[in-house]
Amino acid sequence: MAESLNLRAGIGMTSARTRGRMVERLREQGIKDEIVLAAMGTVPRHLFVDQALESRAYEDTALPIGFGQTISNPYIVARMAELARHGEASQGRELGRVLEIGLGCGYQAAVLGKLAREVVSLERIAALVGKTRQRLRELRVNNVKPKHGDGMAGAKDFAPFDAIVIAAAFAEVPHGLLAQLGEGGRLVMPLGNATQTLCVLERQGDQFTERLLEGVKFVPLLPGVA
Ligand code: SAH
Repeated sequence: MAESLNLRAGIGMTSARTRGRMVERLREQGIKDEIVLAAMGTVPRHLFVDQALESRAYEDTALPIGFGQTISNPYIVARMAELARHGEASQGRELGRVLEIGLGCGYQAAVLGKLAREVVSLERIAALVGKTRQRLRELRVNNVKPKHGDGMAGAKDFAPFDAIVIAAAFAEVPHGLLAQLGEGGRLVMPLGNATQTLCVLERQGDQFTERLLEGVKFVPLLPGVA
C-alpha cells in the first residue's frame, strides 16, 4: 500500500490543480478563513478514498469509504474546521489539542492536523482505525492520533481540548463531552436525526453558549464499538 500511495501521490500536478479549483469553490461557498483554505489546498483528498473513486475526490460530494460510512464533502470539512477555529470573523485562533469523533478515512483529521498542534481522533470501527492509521503513517501525518473507542466517552486522558469536532449526527448534545472542553473551547457537531443542524457550543467558565447554523446531512453517531 505504501508504494501505491506514493505512486498515486506522484500524479500530483493534476491533483494540485484540481485542489486549487476546490479551494476556489470553497471560497465561493463562503469559507473565509485563509488558514483553513490553505489547509484544504494542501491535504491530498484523493489519497483518502479508494483508487476507483479518486477522480471524484475533489467534487463537492460525500463518498463511500467502506463499512457503510462516508467521507464528508469538502465544504462541510472546511466549515467545521472554520467553526472550530472561530466564529464568523475572518481570522481564527491556533488550536492546541483537538478531539475528533468519527475518524473514518482520516481526511478531516488530517485537515484539522494542519490547524492544531495535535488531533486525537476516535473511531468505533476497529478495522477502519487500522486502515486509516496506516494511511496517515504513509502520508506522514504525524500529529493525528487515531484511537479505537466510543466517541461518546470522549478522551479524558487527553483533555482539555480547544475544540471537539463530531463527524456523525446525534439527537442531542453529548453533555459528558462538554466537561472535556477547555476555557473558550468549542464543540462543533451535527445535531438531530433525520433533520440535522450544525451546532456550535462555546465554553466560558461553566457557561456554554449554543448557536444553531445551517442544515447538514451526516451518518448517525452509533453507540459502542465494532
Ligand atoms: N471525518 C471522517 C468522516 C467519517 S463519517 C472522514 O473524514 O472520513 C463518521 C464516522 O464516525 C464513521 O467512520 C463512523 O464509524 C464513526 N462513528 C460513528 N459513531 C461513532 C462513535 N460513537 N464513536 C466513534 N466513532 C463513531
